[in-house]
Amino acid sequence: MKYHILTLFPELISAYMDASILGRACENGILSYRAVNIRDYSLDKHKTVDEYPYGGGPGMVMQAQPIYDAWSDVVSGIAKKPRCIYLTPQGRTFDQDMAKELAKEEDLVFLCGHYEGVDERVLNRIVTDPVSAGDFVLTGGELPALMMIDAISRMIPGVLGNEISGEGESFENGLLEYPQYSRPECWMGEHVPDVLLSGDHERICSWRREESVKRTRSMRPDLLKEAELTREEIAQILQHENPL
Ligand code: SAM
Repeated sequence: MKYHILTLFPELISAYMDASILGRACENGILSYRAVNIRDYSLDKHKTVDEYPYGGGPGMVMQAQPIYDAWSDVVSGIAKKPRCIYLTPQGRTFDQDMAKELAKEEDLVFLCGHYEGVDERVLNRIVTDPVSAGDFVLTGGELPALMMIDAISRMIPGVLGNEISGEGESFENGLLEYPQYSRPECWMGEHVPDVLLSGDHERICSWRREESVKRTRSMRPDLLKEAELTREEIAQILQHENPL
């Protein structure tokens, strides 16, 4: 997977991409990224990239030309035109299914907006997927782009050191993950559940599954509609909803 990130702040991208699991995956050649500075493509002698909005109103708007030229430069080196994701609060909300789907691509372009946003004309020309991080407004698209890149990368074989460590995680089977514990066995007077110390793999599995369903029911009941549940689990949930 090659990520091409069009941004006014390439240093924000490298600060995250070079560290931890993603940094290691880049070193191992499983991933690569290029943070392309949109400002480098400004034809203006002051390297301006933003202008006042037509029609008035507050703030500045990122101009079309430097973005288009940066994007053209990136895609000219790629045989099949890659999907171009524009981070915007107006897009489809990002989720795990989208991360899985995007992980199948070989190249992805991310356009990070700033100020009041981006001239609509360039968006119309280059963007294939407008994507939102959620119903709130950030100052720029870098954080949501990194958030997406992180989630997508975890779906790519070899990125997580242990191939199975993505299994059973929240959203994998429509459920939230069970609670996790580590050493010490007793902390602040609170003990790790006995079953986890039993060494009985089958009991541990069924305890985790039960906790997963319980947790989803209390924290994200909306997910249960799509979850793969047994008849017994459905009966238990219904009993909980209608105790009489
Ligand atoms: N004026 C725009 C609007 O109301 O839709 C918001 C512009 S925002 C201040 C500046 C940039 O931050 C956007 O162009 C976008 O790239 C990014 N951004 C802000 N909130 C976001 C969100 N929830 N998801 C994805 N990107 C976001």
